[in-house]
Amino acid sequence: MTVPAIDPLPLNSKIVGMRCIRCQACFPVADYLEGCPACLASSLPSSLVFDYRLAAAGAPFNAREWLVYASDPQLGEGDTPLVELPRLASDVGIARLTAKYEGANPTGSHKDRMSALFIQRAKSAGFPTVAIASSGNAGVSLAAYAAAAGIECVVVTTEKMTDNWRRAIEMHGARLIATSTVDDRWHLIAGKARAGEWYPATNYIIPAVGSNPFGVDGYRAIAFEMFLQWQDAPATDVLVPTSRGDVLWGVARGFHDLRQAGYLTDVPRVHAVEPFPRIERVLSGEDYRTLFSGQTLMTSLGGSTVAYQALDALRMAGGSAVAVNEPAVIEDQRRLALEGLYLELSSASALTGLRSLMKRNVIPAGAHAVLIATSHGYKEEPSFTAPIPIFSG
Ligand SMILES: [Zn+2]
Repeated sequence: MTVPAIDPLPLNSKIVGMRCIRCQACFPVADYLEGCPACLASSLPSSLVFDYRLAAAGAPFNAREWLVYASDPQLGEGDTPLVELPRLASDVGIARLTAKYEGANPTGSHKDRMSALFIQRAKSAGFPTVAIASSGNAGVSLAAYAAAAGIECVVVTTEKMTDNWRRAIEMHGARLIATSTVDDRWHLIAGKARAGEWYPATNYIIPAVGSNPFGVDGYRAIAFEMFLQWQDAPATDVLVPTSRGDVLWGVARGFHDLRQAGYLTDVPRVHAVEPFPRIERVLSGEDYRTLFSGQTLMTSLGGSTVAYQALDALRMAGGSAVAVNEPAVIEDQRRLALEGLYLELSSASALTGLRSLMKRNVIPAGAHAVLIATSHGYKEEPSFTAPIPIFSG
């Protein structure tokens, strides 16, 4: 495969502006690092997203023409496989089960979709230094795409980052900085972003907003690809491991856009799977700006905040939120590996979430469910390692 060099590109000509997902106010395309200015002023932080004038059904569907930059893949991101899991479907008791294997992206996670578009923006707008708060996947991904584009990258993490992630980030030439707490990462980035020194890829305010809109836009492609991969047998339910809801929103909005343009009549429900109740509590009436504390081994899904975009996603896609039990996720990580898919623990939670929603009769036995397998497991530090048995004949 030939991989083209990264060049600045014009924005997709179908974009008519940016719109707040909460108050629906419209804004010209620009960098709003803390989301909708009107909602922020009312202490109700909310994301701005791109508004498209999308082609009507009848025209051949081309996923790339629906993204903020209609660019070719930069390091080979996207077009990930949809893996059929018939044996697991039968064990779980569901008609059809597939996994959208995002571990097949260049740095092993869905984050490459965000990094590719975010770096295009950084390059087009002339930002010399990009920054990200990350526990691992997003940091590795941004470091790789920044390296390819010749842009300086700073990854702010905590001392808990595993050696596998750390080595990859350093190999890509990014600067790695640790702070003592997760929240301190955001304080550091806030100061540098407001001073105009760093262009941030992720949220840094509390209450939180979604990640940079140029990057989040790329997650819509997961829905577009699945639409093309299903052919005439669309899924009914999609399960997304979720923290602040970037992927959740992207997938839900992608289906929403396909319906708006007439390509789909019925869209699948998109469900959020969480390591402990956050969105679930908001759906039960708590304020989304509450800090929800909880510990988890699912490092990619940690954090105490809920972003408004997660609620917008579930509203658009008629989905629910489910918190999963950690020992069950550890079992499901093993179960998926026995099907050939070695996923990060955070990703395996999608299967556990499916089991819970079936038990609650939210997802019926006749459903076709898709697990968004956000990341492969090779970068995880094993919690135990038994010695390999020596060959004894
Ligand atoms: Zn607003």
